[in-house]
Amino acid sequence: MAILPIHVLGSGVLREQAANVREFDDDLRKLVADMYETMDTALGVGLAANQVGVARRIAVIDADGHRFAMINPRITSRGTSTVGAEEGCLSIPDLFGEVTRPEQVSFEAQDEHGKTFSLELTGLAARAVQHEIDHLDGILFIDYLSPLKRQFAVRKWKRELDGEGLTYLPSPEESEAAG
Ligand code: ZN
Repeated sequence: MAILPIHVLGSGVLREQAANVREFDDDLRKLVADMYETMDTALGVGLAANQVGVARRIAVIDADGHRFAMINPRITSRGTSTVGAEEGCLSIPDLFGEVTRPEQVSFEAQDEHGKTFSLELTGLAARAVQHEIDHLDGILFIDYLSPLKRQFAVRKWKRELDGEGLTYLPSPEESEAAG
């Protein structure tokens, strides 16, 4: 297994619409294993393939005791009640903002062997699933902030990042819970 470099805001792949996975082969399973290792090293609650430079519909989740890979995930229903919570992202380190999302979601996906499964989740796990599926559609949590807040946050973040490049290798010492 290997820890993969994580792409940060400004890297084009974060805005790409990820393509469906058709081949469930050893290459896919290796990528999933590497994504687990990368997420764990970064102490993340989720990681989407776009974040490691691969625009394919693959994400891993580890939130509230729910640990799984989801390939070609599709939300099948959203709860009617919404909840706001502070969100962060491994691709925008040190930036946090409140995002309102449905509290409960059901989704369908395939595992790394191509087997279809479905889950109904609430709380942090439901939030992580929505955050990661957004990544696969090129959407970032900052897109939900008000334009003013977003502008302010991104400027601050860019100043801090200045000159550090568009990827980084995660290490547990420098991480906070994010996806
Ligand atoms: Zn993220």
